[in-house]
Amino acid sequence: MRSKILWLLLVVGLLALAAALQTGTIRVPDTWNPWAPVHIAESPNWLTRFKLQRLYQDEAGCRSVLSEAEMQMERVPDRVTEPGCGFSNAVRIEATTAAVEEPFVLSCPMAVSLAIWERHVLQPAAHTHFGQPVAELEHFGSYACRGVYGRDDGRLSRHATANAVDVAGFVLEDGRRIRIVGDWPGDGPEAEFLREVHQGACGIFDGVLGPDYNPAHHDHFHLEQGGSRLCR
Ligand SMILES: [Zn+2]
Repeated sequence: MRSKILWLLLVVGLLALAAALQTGTIRVPDTWNPWAPVHIAESPNWLTRFKLQRLYQDEAGCRSVLSEAEMQMERVPDRVTEPGCGFSNAVRIEATTAAVEEPFVLSCPMAVSLAIWERHVLQPAAHTHFGQPVAELEHFGSYACRGVYGRDDGRLSRHATANAVDVAGFVLEDGRRIRIVGDWPGDGPEAEFLREVHQGACGIFDGVLGPDYNPAHHDHFHLEQGGSRLCR
């Protein structure tokens, strides 16, 4: 009985704390306030994925955060292609902090996630390992109305709602090319760099799949938002 009361007090206390943070009665730095908007310049922490999820319920708020991103992009009209497929509040990305050969469409929260990953994980790792930035992002596309690879239960991929992108490799400023297909299995600086950017993605995206997951991912990192939690 006594422990039940303690639990009840704890729950009530936490709810009061959440309410106080939400209403601004208690002030903590935005980085540590789960109800404050995420910012691209802010270093990611354990609240980042929660804040990114909230952007799905706040279209205007998401666009405002996305405007902080170093990205060349334009809004695309909402689209439904067939049941379960299509996107809303999405952008067509023509360049990020790196050039992209083929523009690709991402939902706004997914585009914010990509911007955070590039700024806090990808570009710093390129500087650490090679002393230069990534100048081009190579990818296999984002939006595609299709099911999850290797499953025939009809479950749709996060690609079907523009909430995933397949990253195939990177070109550094000096033209050096790092590809997941050739460089992941090695043990040189390229492999170390790839492992670091893969691991760093797990703190930002809900789902990160690479060559260690299954043969379908031998040549790319699948990065997605809004699905189940996976880091493989
Ligand atoms: Zn994918």
